[in-house]
Amino acid sequence: MLKNLLEEKRCFKLICGAGNENEAEVEKLVALYASAGCKFFDLSAKENIVDCAKRALAYSGVTDAELCVSVGIKGDPHVSKAVIDYEKCIQCGHCESVCPQGAIKYAKVKKLKCIGCGKCSKVCPKNAVSYISEDKDLSEVIPPLAERGISCIEFHVIGEDTPELEQKWKYLNENFDGILSISINRMKLSGEEMVSRIKKMTENREPYSTIIQADGFPMSGGADDYKSTLQAVATAELIQNEKLPVYILLSGGTNSKSKELAKLCGININGVAVGSYARNIVRKYIERDDFLTNKEIFSQAKQIAQTLVRACS
Ligand code: SF4
Ligand code: SF4
Repeated sequence: MLKNLLEEKRCFKLICGAGNENEAEVEKLVALYASAGCKFFDLSAKENIVDCAKRALAYSGVTDAELCVSVGIKGDPHVSKAVIDYEKCIQCGHCESVCPQGAIKYAKVKKLKCIGCGKCSKVCPKNAVSYISEDKDLSEVIPPLAERGISCIEFHVIGEDTPELEQKWKYLNENFDGILSISINRMKLSGEEMVSRIKKMTENREPYSTIIQADGFPMSGGADDYKSTLQAVATAELIQNEKLPVYILLSGGTNSKSKELAKLCGININGVAVGSYARNIVRKYIERDDFLTNKEIFSQAKQIAQTLVRACS
């Protein structure tokens, strides 16, 4: 059970990417990290993606993993996709070279691969990249996923549309019995605003039925150092200080140092969710077409994944 995983305070969650709709990549990531000991997977809220994660778990022989799907409000980068304005674009290729998902080819964005990480717009010399969030109707999205046995829904709440936030949160509270996770950071909210949003959202929830995912810098994981994970730990500290009956996971810039840094700082977390860093360290393996059939390659990647899972759990 997900609650047990969280209460043991050794929960490692693999973030495949809220916007990652690349079936082949998700299947390989879930198969690999399940084999490496991960029991909790965060997926895009799409039926085909949940189905391919389940296929991957069967491939790995893992029967007790927990699946989470991610939804969000407009403006949250986790549920946004890059769009290029061709009136401004000069086809310089800078965006393609920095995209961690291989989602840009010849200045065209492959929507299914884009995870909204924001790296392309940062390097664009012509300010030609913007982001759009799909406005999903949760009453259509959630029921088929709940039928597939997901145990958690993550709600990304970085955006300014408070009515949308309230309406979607109400729907999730009234229609999903599993654990709800609130992914929040201080990119657009002050520390005070963040805490106030969390308190308001959790005031009527059963104790310990909510995860607060303390997101440092979303999708920024790269280096395996303390600095990259510092903001996630600092965000977790603000949440811990409130002594709310919630579980706390670190995310956003997380890596193999995250759990250690939290411990050094006296932050009592229930686990670590790792996305960009976990995907990057095995990217050269999972990009291979024979990844799932070449035992030697799979085994090399598994050793790398295991090192991360152990460091975080
Ligand atoms: S760099 Fe990030 S936001 Fe831009 S296309 Fe690639 S995945 Fe999407
Ligand atoms: S970086 Fe900007 S200008 Fe260059 S190819 Fe990408 S969108 Fe076009």
